[in-house]
Amino acid sequence: MEDCIFCKIVAGEIPATIVRETDDVIAFEDLHPQAPHHVLVIPRRHIATLNDLTAEDAVTVGNMARVAAEVAAERGFAEAGYRTVMNCNQQGGQTVYHIHMHLLGGRPLGWPPG
Ligand code: 5GP
Repeated sequence: MEDCIFCKIVAGEIPATIVRETDDVIAFEDLHPQAPHHVLVIPRRHIATLNDLTAEDAVTVGNMARVAAEVAAERGFAEAGYRTVMNCNQQGGQTVYHIHMHLLGGRPLGWPPG
């Protein structure tokens, strides 16, 4: 997708600190971290919102969760705990319209979110 900032990261056209890559998923550091660890996990394929998922995306979305858990384990905060979040559309707080899973960890996280 031409104007999608995350597609540009996938294509290597804008820089990002990539922490993990698979055939269908990449993970990179969030530009504005909200916790000591804040990683974004995205599909390589452009999918605008969770509302646009189809059955064929099921494996990729599962892989996003698996990659998030692997990064948490590698960084040593899996046992302490962490949060994954996928925001959808305006009221959900989505600002980048290429689906992404936030992985937040390294501090206690409040609930409910704002
Ligand atoms: P959303 O608000 O859509 O759930 O989350 C978008 C996230 O993308 C935000 O946490 C924001 O900091 C992050 N972000 C926006 N632009 C960039 C960018 O160019 N590079 C990186 N690494 N993160 C970005």
